[in-house]
Amino acid sequence: MKSRKLLMIPGPIEFENDVLQRMAIPTPSHVDPDFIAAFSNCLKLLKDVCQSPSGQAFIVAGTGTFAMDMAAANLIESGDKALVVSTGYFGLRFAEILKRYGAEVDILEAQVGDIVPMEQIEQQLQSKTYKLLAFTHVDTSTAVLNDAKQIGALGKKHKVLTVLDGVCSVAGEDIKQDEWGIDVVLTASQKAIGVPPGLALLVASQNAMRAFEQRKSPVANYYGDWANWLPIMKAYENKQASYFGTPPVNLIMALEKSLQAIVKEGLDQRVDRHQRAGKAMRAALKAIGLEVLSKNEDIASNTLSAPYYPSQIDPATFLQGVNKEGVVLAGGLLPELKSKYFRIGHMGSVNKGDLLATIGAIETVLKSSGHRHELGSGTAEILKHF
Ligand code: PMP
Repeated sequence: MKSRKLLMIPGPIEFENDVLQRMAIPTPSHVDPDFIAAFSNCLKLLKDVCQSPSGQAFIVAGTGTFAMDMAAANLIESGDKALVVSTGYFGLRFAEILKRYGAEVDILEAQVGDIVPMEQIEQQLQSKTYKLLAFTHVDTSTAVLNDAKQIGALGKKHKVLTVLDGVCSVAGEDIKQDEWGIDVVLTASQKAIGVPPGLALLVASQNAMRAFEQRKSPVANYYGDWANWLPIMKAYENKQASYFGTPPVNLIMALEKSLQAIVKEGLDQRVDRHQRAGKAMRAALKAIGLEVLSKNEDIASNTLSAPYYPSQIDPATFLQGVNKEGVVLAGGLLPELKSKYFRIGHMGSVNKGDLLATIGAIETVLKSSGHRHELGSGTAEILKHF
């Protein structure tokens, strides 16, 4: 019997061996030539993954929340107006972060499982002069995907800085930062990027960097201040070492491996693979009679699924049962619906075998709890999609 369980939560995910091996190498100095080369490479590869050749990449120890914090701290000054388009838990978190730096925040909140219609976003942008518009590409609490291209175009038209929280989308959903006019794409290491937690990753457009340079007040977050980090990123880009805070050396070495694999797979191919995984999982869930939160296929994310429990199922017993079957899933995250649904991550190096094992475990536990479905109908959908 395998002692290791299959980790199918929406981050952290299953990591590749060559990535994990880099976590285990004897830690080199942050000024070691091999590390300098790896860091430099990571900065370039991150821009490739966000499709932003003109952007400025930042790789800093922290989590996705810190990447959000960095965007807000550096772009907002007290009294600036910000608009948050929220599709769940992480949209509301962004609003809180922006307020901490003195932004006057308006929130357009979607109904659970839905997006905010573009017309409504446009109307709101017309109603006052915003400095910044933030949205979550895939909200991990609802598995809802926003149309980043359209929101980017609206942002450009109304001359606001558009910030995309891509923690649950970068390297799993299509993102063309430069082409779509997105000013900040931010993410973290532990999801589709495929590296253990601990890195805040961000690419800022030149427009965003100009807005930062034109600030009148100092950035109220010392650790996250781009004035401290920009010279460091520039130095490593130019294959020179520099110091502000000790970089998480092993994580950055691991990041290089993962970003190389992402680019080698090809961004379009990678997004297609994630799309297929998302479609297959939703079809499988439907076949066994489970409904998902996202209202329709057009706004359903590639990277995770969020199905409702059937009414007679006890959440804790279900999740423990699936765990006993060797698969780890996550509970609900939206406070108002927490006990009504669960979440399945399918990103990074996820493959057909992982999806089969996951739906197989779900089917088994549901069957033994008295849920009516034809055993194997979910797994058949996965097979059909691959
Ligand atoms: N935004 C989104 C969309 C997320 O999914 C998460 C993490 N689940 C975060 C932000 C915060 O990232 P972290 O937990 O790494 O701080």
